[in-house]
Formats: sequence, structure tokens, C-alpha cells
Amino acid sequence: MKENNMEKIVSLCKRRGFIFQTAEIYGGMQGVYDYGPLGVELANNIKKAWWEAMIYQRDDIEGLDSSILGSQSIFSHSGHEDTFSDPLVDCKSCGERFRADQVPDYCKEEDLTEPRDFNLMFKTNIGPVDDGSSLVYLRPETAQHIFINFKNVIDSTSRTLPFGIAQIGKAFRNEITARNFIFRKREFEQMEMEYFVEPKHDEKFHEYWTKERMKWWLDQGLKEENIELYKVPKEELSHYSKATTDIMYKFPHGTEELEGIANRTDFDLGSHTKSQEEFNIDAKVKENKSSKMKLAYQDKVTNKWLMPYVIEPSAGVERAFLAILNDAYKEEILENESKRVVLSLKKHLSPVKIAVIPLKKNVEEIVNASIEIKNKLLKLNLGRITVENTGNIGKSYRKHDEIGTPLCITVDYDTIEDNKVTFRDRDTMEQRSIDLESLEKDVLDFFRN
Ligand code: ATP
Repeated sequence: MKENNMEKIVSLCKRRGFIFQTAEIYGGMQGVYDYGPLGVELANNIKKAWWEAMIYQRDDIEGLDSSILGSQSIFSHSGHEDTFSDPLVDCKSCGERFRADQVPDYCKEEDLTEPRDFNLMFKTNIGPVDDGSSLVYLRPETAQHIFINFKNVIDSTSRTLPFGIAQIGKAFRNEITARNFIFRKREFEQMEMEYFVEPKHDEKFHEYWTKERMKWWLDQGLKEENIELYKVPKEELSHYSKATTDIMYKFPHGTEELEGIANRTDFDLGSHTKSQEEFNIDAKVKENKSSKMKLAYQDKVTNKWLMPYVIEPSAGVERAFLAILNDAYKEEILENESKRVVLSLKKHLSPVKIAVIPLKKNVEEIVNASIEIKNKLLKLNLGRITVENTGNIGKSYRKHDEIGTPLCITVDYDTIEDNKVTFRDRDTMEQRSIDLESLEKDVLDFFRN
């Protein structure tokens, strides 16, 4: 298989408006990026596909959209204040800082300082006085706000076990070495779901969610040969985890984590609940004297309380974005020996669904007919549809191949005279004539396949 390298993807992202470096005009900010006009569409489509799979297509998961700011109590009891750190070393020769396990070959052992712990959470404060008493954190994961809302969700939805709470949102980590384009950022987005189960069912559901998530990634167009499962060894597990399986992807820079699926046991609910002594909490938790809510589950039949276990699939939007682009990116040599770059994105992910292209940019009738067709098709709610009025049909096809638009519709004199347009399929490059009378049906058929 041909390998795609990172430079090609980075260059496409900049050239076509998927990703821009933040504050480039002021020299850029390391590890922080902006989504451009097409990037925002692709990212939204990824999130929509995840939300649909997690919430709409099932009936056991509720959604949530919580705050990004989190009080110190949350991250004190979650263990993040004490343990959410990476070992940092300084190289006395080059003057750079690295995560101890990511020191480049060019630094010599004797030039490195002893590793010291560096907490990855970003701090800020609430209110006008910054005297330490108003400290808050930008959440380093969306999960904690799901746990602290456990009772609110259960009380408002009457859920019974097993059930889940899903959330998509920003997370912030002051990574020591942010690198590999959008793979490791300081501000990124997570798609996380906490699935609450009876403790005795934890392993069964851990396996179940690992399989479900693998299926989802394949549905997004990732190639099976580029994904593998990795059972995290005991000594590498996070403080809350009994077992974690990572879905690893062959990124352009190497095989690394795309999503983690963790068995968080009763650690989180047990850490945040009040009256900890009333429950048999299996995990080792810090004493909690501040919590005002019982975060446990009362069986509707027996009235007995139990502390659920949690299975958490946690994926990053940016890593999804990079993996999806990497597997969709293709360079083809055509019959006439010219090269075409094409993004074979799954249709539901394509930033632009349809480009309506007037053959002549200055012929009013053709341009107006194109706008009319666009407006008619917009009602189908497929997503973004654009009128591509450059007057150069070859260039328009090349552009839309490169950004992954599945369908181009060309409008010409036949449209005015015979009510015909031309469909051009991105993947096969085949063109066929379509009658305007059946336009909506043909478009829907196209997107169904
Ligand atoms: P890594 O070991 O690569 O730092 P992690 O194990 O710390 O990742 P988790 O805490 O399990 O990551 O976070 C869940 C998911 O969030 C990851 O699988 C990844 O997709 C995403 N993620 C984590 N950190 C970052 C980051 N700095 N930039 C982009 N995505 C991230």
C-alpha cells in the first residue's frame, strides 16, 4: 500500500482551507490550530456521525453539553491535581524541553536534567481577584462533568442500568511537546461516552464497546489494515483504570492512539459522591467531604443502592479528522497521464456534498438555473451545496475531487433547452445526463448508495 506522508495532508489542509495554524500572522502558536471553511464542515460531520451512532441510533444513551470551566474540587477529587502530569526533562545542550519518553535522538543522555512532574491542566480564575481562592481549571477531559451530572441526568430521565451519557466538547492540555500537526494539540475536542453498568457486567461491556467502536471507525472509511487494538499493560494504566484497550491507528507519523476504551470501575462516581462510607467502593478514592450529592444508583425493584462501574470510549475529533483524511487521500494517474488528487471521503463526511457548476460564468440563464437547482436541493437537507461559478469546468472538477465533493452537477445550454443536467461522480468520474424532473430523486439515490 502506498504511504501518505504528513506533508501532503498538511499542504492540502492549508491550500484548501481545512486547517490553519492559529495566529499565523503573529508567528503562530504551538499546538493550537483553527478549522478553516472546509475543516469546520468535516469536523462537524464527524461529530454528527458520532452523535447519531451514540444517541439517535440507540435508546440507552443521553446527551450532555457541560461547561468547560471546572472548579478545583472537581479536579482535586478526580485525581487530576495529583496525577495528571507528564515527566518533563530539559536538555542543557539545545535548551528545549521534552516529555521524558519523547526525547529526540540528537539529545545526549548526559545533557538531560532529572525528570520532574509537570501538571498538564490549564489554570485560570473566576472573578476579578486572583488570590488563589478563585482558581478554576479548563477541563482536561469532558468526562468529569458527565460524572458530576450523573444524579441530574438519572433524576430527569429515570434511566435504569445499563445506560450512558455522551458529550462532545473542548478539552485543554498543556502538552509538553505538542506535535505531529493536529495529532497532539493543546486545545482539542473529545467525543466521550460514559456507560454505567452493574459492577459484575463490566468486562462484558468493555468488550462490547470495543467492538462497537471498531465498527464505527470502519463506517467512517478507515481501512481495517490501518487499525489495531492494543491492550494497555497494567503498569501503564491511568490512575482510574482497571483495564484499557486503545484503538491504534497507523497515522502518517507512526502508529498511535486514536481512541481509548477504559474500564474506569467505580472510581469516578465513588470519588465525587457524598457519604462515601455508605457504599462499598472498590476503587481507591480520596475522602470527599465537599460533595452534596449521592452519586449512586438505586435499583427500582429492590430499592438497594449500588455504585455502578463505568466503561468509557473516548475519542479525539482531531485524531479522527487526521485518520479520515489520511485514508481518504489518493493520488491517481489518469489515462492521459495527468495526476489527480482525490479525497475519497464517505459521503456523510464530505465538507461539500454537491457542487453545482455553470458551464459559462457569464451566461445569466445558466447561472440563474444553477442557483435555482442549488436552492431546490438545499431543501433535501444533505448539508453544504455550493454554486461553483469559475467558468472553468476542468478546474472545478479538480478542486472538488481534492476536497472530496461526491457529486458535481453541471448546468449548460441543455439545461435551458432540454431540462437536462450532467451528474459527475467523484469516485468513478463517470458523467451521465439527468432529467431535471427527477433531480431530487436521483440526488437522493446517489447519496443513499
Ligand atoms: P496520549 O497517550 O496520546 O497522550 P491519552 O491516553 O492521554 O493520549 P486520553 O486521556 O485517553 O488520551 O484521551 C482520550 C482521547 O482524546 C485520545 O484517544 C485522543 O484521541 C484524544 N486526545 C488526547 N490528548 C489529545 C491531544 N493533546 N490532542 C488531540 N487529541 C487528544
